[in-house]
Amino acid sequence: MATKKAPIVYHPSYNITFWNLEKKYKNIHRFLIESGLFTINSFHEPSPPTPLDLEDVHSKQYLDSLNSNAKLQRILEVPFVTMLPHSLVKKKVLEPMLLQTGGSVLAAELALENGWGINLGGGFHHAHYNDGGGFCVYADITLIVKKMLSNYPDKVSRVMIIDLDAHQGNGHERDFAHDNKVHIIDAFNFHIYPQDRYAYSSITTPVRLTTPELKKDEKYLQSIQSAILQSFHEFRPNFVIYNAGTDCLEGDPLGSMNLSKDAILKRDELVFRTAISNGVPIVMLLSGGYQKKNAEIISTSILNIINKFGLLEKIGTSN
Ligand SMILES: [Zn+2]
Repeated sequence: MATKKAPIVYHPSYNITFWNLEKKYKNIHRFLIESGLFTINSFHEPSPPTPLDLEDVHSKQYLDSLNSNAKLQRILEVPFVTMLPHSLVKKKVLEPMLLQTGGSVLAAELALENGWGINLGGGFHHAHYNDGGGFCVYADITLIVKKMLSNYPDKVSRVMIIDLDAHQGNGHERDFAHDNKVHIIDAFNFHIYPQDRYAYSSITTPVRLTTPELKKDEKYLQSIQSAILQSFHEFRPNFVIYNAGTDCLEGDPLGSMNLSKDAILKRDELVFRTAISNGVPIVMLLSGGYQKKNAEIISTSILNIINKFGLLEKIGTSN
């Protein structure tokens, strides 16, 4: 059995049980344990970010506005939030999201230490300094970038965000508009939410998925591969944040893309291979994708990466 924890972060309270929407995290955790590579003690448990951390990435006005159910209803896009007591929404939705935000930061710190880290949640890429949206309340990606740059200046000076969720990551794009310490690659379906033109201008390397061919396996993989390899060559990042949304899978009602399970495995492998072969620490966040089949696909992909690159051997974790 595992002698040392793996750099994977999870907490049972990640799960938003409210709408029966988010069994995703629990199921991924269960699949990983069932693989036999991990035990219940193999995972790191995060704490929520401190109020100071939150004030670093969000305006006071925005944080105060989260006390209003009407505001939360708009961000979460669930119609009946205004009819519920705020204390209930806070406990059932905001607290899990806060914990996942802390998990993203912890996974990033573990990545710096071990070469890789995975948060079995997070990836709230629509949230930014002044607002949230698209089910994203707290800007965990922005918080990672700020923490890495300020706490580890000798190790992290150039951060690459590779955002492969089906939606445009307008949150981190607004927060790091034209910041030369941050290189953003974003491959997204151009025809769906949020269509944020202002944020689009701060994507360093956009991969606009506009035609049906680009939303299928082969063309998609070719497009992201050339964007990633060229960006690595030009920017030479010393830290990578991988926003690995799986709403680009076929059948996803929000992503409207057409990738197979095999393409998701190849995609994740490509991103990890590029970071690992360049010796750059990488943290992976799960972001969107809530079909029933996603948990099994995500855990299969995580196990594939771990096996393919010998990630547990590298950090001295054996089973
Ligand atoms: Zn998405």
